Amino acid sequence: MSSKYDVIVVGAGLAGLRAAGVLEARGLSVVILEKRATVGGRMASHRVDGFVLDEGFQLINPAYPELIATGVLDDFDLRSFEPSVRFVRGDSSITLADPRHSPTAALASLWSRDVSLADEMRAVRLFAHCGLGSAQNILAQRDTTIIAGLQRYGFSSAMIEGVWRPFLRGTLLEDDLNSSWLYAQLLLRSFFKGRPGTHPEGIAALPRALAAQLRTTSVHLDEEVISIAGTTVQTTEGEYRGRAVILATDPTDAICLIKGDDVPWLGQTTWWLSLPKDYGLSSLQIDVLAQPFTSALEITAVAPERAPANSVLVAVPANGVFESSEFDRLAVGYAARLYGTRVADISLIEKSVVSRALPKLRFPLTFPNVQRRGDLVYGGDYLQTPSIQGALVSGRRAAFEVLTMLGS
Ligand SMILES: Cc1cc2nc3c(=O)[nH]c(=O)nc-3n(C[C@H](O)[C@H](O)[C@H](O)COP(=O)(O)OP(=O)(O)OC[C@H]3O[C@@H](n4cnc5c(N)ncnc54)[C@H](O)[C@@H]3O)c2cc1C
Repeated sequence: MSSKYDVIVVGAGLAGLRAAGVLEARGLSVVILEKRATVGGRMASHRVDGFVLDEGFQLINPAYPELIATGVLDDFDLRSFEPSVRFVRGDSSITLADPRHSPTAALASLWSRDVSLADEMRAVRLFAHCGLGSAQNILAQRDTTIIAGLQRYGFSSAMIEGVWRPFLRGTLLEDDLNSSWLYAQLLLRSFFKGRPGTHPEGIAALPRALAAQLRTTSVHLDEEVISIAGTTVQTTEGEYRGRAVILATDPTDAICLIKGDDVPWLGQTTWWLSLPKDYGLSSLQIDVLAQPFTSALEITAVAPERAPANSVLVAVPANGVFESSEFDRLAVGYAARLYGTRVADISLIEKSVVSRALPKLRFPLTFPNVQRRGDLVYGGDYLQTPSIQGALVSGRRAAFEVLTMLGS
């Protein structure tokens, strides 16, 4: 006996959850089949000794238009970090801040020897261009590499190497600046409009909240899809027949089920550290000279619930996959320098090694007109942009594709 639904969604990541939400709102019966024990896919968190750790370092930007469209943020305990970054280079440091939130810090940076006034003015112009214009205006430009885009704006090489590269490499998970300038501008737009944050229950709270919005959709966890033939789906538990199927897994899992192309992945390693005292520093800290690490962030400065009483949780991410324990020592040293504490007083709680963190972005940036091949509709961040925004957009687009197919 097979179970019947209008639409079968494979994967309960953000894309699958968003697709289901749109479809059930149009009155269709939907089932989501998810192989893991929880919803959320790559947005996962777990507890270790009273600490709430995310599986990889990620933040939620409340300015993502598609996230706003879901309505999920209306009742979401987002704890935003201070919109400022401290760049440390040897013995000197400079804090660049959003003047709308931290006027004193922003003013102080005007007298810095590390960043010229001309470069600061260029940065203000760039943020204003990205933040005040529409996303369509950004996307209407011809794409180029980030480095070429920054140079075209007139930034000095000191500003590019000392500020832009260290900041963007942590956001894009790529060390070089050869990816899409259009995408970098979209990211700057989201930083202009929103203050990224986290949740006291970890990043997984976001997909959980999206799943909680579903009213009629059945979500089957711990049920792996093993084959798809037309609109019939076979899982470890049984068979499902639908009028349409959305494959909302990541691209590497998708090619285990159907023929297709894999995409290159960018990896990330995050060291979750316990520090001896509360620094109350909710701004991002970057040691410009200490690769492979990209930054350090005191998570408990905004979400003390994520650590046992009197404990401090700091995340230190790096671009790439670093299994060797040699890097554990370096990560601890990195945090010790940035927070001015002794290495001996820091302990490693856990290291998250995520080899498939972000699908590498297409360059130049393009978006597929259709997310469908034959009977099968696709969802997933790899079809749009490697982000919460991209995953949600891809889910909505997959749902619309199904509605068109079914004439609903
Ligand atoms: C380390 C890291 C850092 C990140 N940082 C940020 C950030 O700061 N800001 C930001 O906006 N984005 C960030 N992202 C990206 C963001 O998390 C992803 O873009 C988004 O979660 C992808 O959602 P998705 O639904 O496309 O895919 P996924 O989350 O991969 O979901 C796919 C789902 O399909 C399931 N599945 C696979 N195969 C099967 C099968 N055979 N049967 C049933 N189920 C199956 C999987 O278990 C999974 O639940 C980060 C991601 C990572 C990993």
